Amino acid sequence: MQKVCRTTRLTLWVTLVLMTGSGFFGCAGKISDINIFSDAQEVQLGKQFSRQIEQEVKIYSDPIVTAYIAQLGRHLANHSQRKNITYHFKTVNTEVVNAFAIPGGYLYVNIGLIRAAENESELAGVIGHEIGHVVGKHGVKQMTRQLGLAAVAQLALGENQSELKQIVAGLAANGVLMKYGRDAEREADRYAVQEMYDAGIDPEGMATFFEKLLKLQKGKPSKLEQIFSTHPPTTERIAAVRSQIAKLPRKSNLKKDSRRFHKIKKRLPPPSKTPKGKQ
Ligand SMILES: [Zn+2]
Repeated sequence: MQKVCRTTRLTLWVTLVLMTGSGFFGCAGKISDINIFSDAQEVQLGKQFSRQIEQEVKIYSDPIVTAYIAQLGRHLANHSQRKNITYHFKTVNTEVVNAFAIPGGYLYVNIGLIRAAENESELAGVIGHEIGHVVGKHGVKQMTRQLGLAAVAQLALGENQSELKQIVAGLAANGVLMKYGRDAEREADRYAVQEMYDAGIDPEGMATFFEKLLKLQKGKPSKLEQIFSTHPPTTERIAAVRSQIAKLPRKSNLKKDSRRFHKIKKRLPPPSKTPKGKQ
């Protein structure tokens, strides 16, 4: 450990894995549900990844748009099942219709997605879904899976540390953390419906937005092929969302739209001709 601590950049990764404690062995259930990271470790990891990501994407810094996204996001996060971490919301200046979350509560919403949403509840649906990934700890579970038991053990024993550090960095760089799989997508949808409902936002917005994306994807596959490439909307997902909504107790005054949302849309820079970049 003494040796390790002298190398600064390596310290985080090693500490993260060494500090896993009994969590790993105490876990039960499916392999995909195993998470070796504590909340504090996840947050630290997220911070590192967010720095990496923000060097690669163009963050849109208009304070009014940024504040709006953060406020809507926090409102949803405050009604989520994971309130013990601080959520960070940022807007990315790209026309690609997408949003993504990395471990630790760091969420990114593309301008192209804000533009594609017709009303506030549609935008909230996507943000809610991304919060759902954080609630479900899908990033750290995915990372545990990718690292594998052998790697974790190796790292704990102090072998091949630089190699493992490379693996971990590579996972972030390749977006592996955002490819969660079908079960995780469904789970994030379920969390999102509940968050929206509890936050007083009409969860139907999520279903209508998914429908919109599905249509866009079918209509112009070349131009919009990257739409939710890491979590494509499917008719099955839309049906599941609607059936969950149908089971919720009736609630009046669920908010579908706001004037502020449309003001924000008008503030966005004029759309560039072709979507660029992966995010
Ligand atoms: Zn997703």
